[in-house]
Amino acid sequence: MDTLKDFLFLNANVATDFNPFCEGEYLVIQTYPHDKKLVVKHRSFDYQEANSSCQFENLAHDYTSFSLRIFHDSRLWTVDSEGNPGSRSLQQDWKIAQEYKDADSDGNFESEIDICNCGYPYFSVLIDIDIYYWKSITCLVEDRGREIINCPNCNALIEDQGEDEDDFDEEESRPAACIGCENYHGQYYGGNMLVCAIHPHGVEGENCPDYCDRIL
Ligand SMILES: [Zn+2]
Repeated sequence: MDTLKDFLFLNANVATDFNPFCEGEYLVIQTYPHDKKLVVKHRSFDYQEANSSCQFENLAHDYTSFSLRIFHDSRLWTVDSEGNPGSRSLQQDWKIAQEYKDADSDGNFESEIDICNCGYPYFSVLIDIDIYYWKSITCLVEDRGREIINCPNCNALIEDQGEDEDDFDEEESRPAACIGCENYHGQYYGGNMLVCAIHPHGVEGENCPDYCDRIL
């Protein structure tokens, strides 16, 4: 007889939560915006099928980006044009240690799990409320409790990723059309800047049709 769990496995999204990834499996993952856990839209061992599914997801969602990855050597890799592993993916299936998950969900606003622009989760603790000083700590099952200044995954300065209005370096490199826009991303991937999910290469001129000054 089928149990409730058997039926759950028929739902691809639920199955993703239960089934570990397999060597050579293609995954269509959400690469923007980031979530605390890897968002997998589609799983397949067929490269063409996975590739089409990825393109479909990108067409179907305006404010979300999806990319194809392959599970190889216990990690996610980018996929080359022939469906083989390319380079190690910045996005991984990060496993957050339970004590940090608990601390994040206990409603205490002085500590929380944050996500680097590359998708790497880390734990922030408010050390001094007067100067609003936060300490960043690793919170993965395999690497926890270590104070960090740079992201261990992409090496970006973690302090630069807050809502710091005086961050001139970041603002100077931001295209004029993107200043004040909530959609702006501005991180480099393999030497190319992803300006935002809607216009990956930015827009011409100073006016963007999708300018947004509030979080949707
Ligand atoms: Zn990072």
